[in-house]
Amino acid sequence: MFDKIEHIGIAVKDMAVSKNLFSLLLNQEPYKEEAVSSENVNTVFFQTGESKIELLEAISSESAIAKFIEKKGEGIHHIAFAVKDILYEVDRLKSEGFVFINETPKQGADNKLVVFLHPKSSNSVLIELCQER
Ligand code: ZN
Repeated sequence: MFDKIEHIGIAVKDMAVSKNLFSLLLNQEPYKEEAVSSENVNTVFFQTGESKIELLEAISSESAIAKFIEKKGEGIHHIAFAVKDILYEVDRLKSEGFVFINETPKQGADNKLVVFLHPKSSNSVLIELCQER
């Protein structure tokens, strides 16, 4: 079962500008900043109740975030659901016909194991499942 919306990922062009913007908006400083080299992104996390906001900035033109911004501009990039058993959910969703970008969980930001569903199988919304390590 999906526990909650763990975070919403937002693609930003300039982390310094957006970090300041979201600090003002949410009236708090981020609790974590982390580069995820495997994804070529910088991330900044804010806690909002039981969910989080994840800002994502490309650190290379090869990054999926760079390509996303090129195509669609800044904005909501993905919705991440917390799950207790990520392998179970991958199997369940595959058997329901959902397509994954990666179905083998990999190390994501914020100490999570993550998989991504392909947006073509979820109404053009990029869905991330994450499990606490
Ligand atoms: Zn995420």
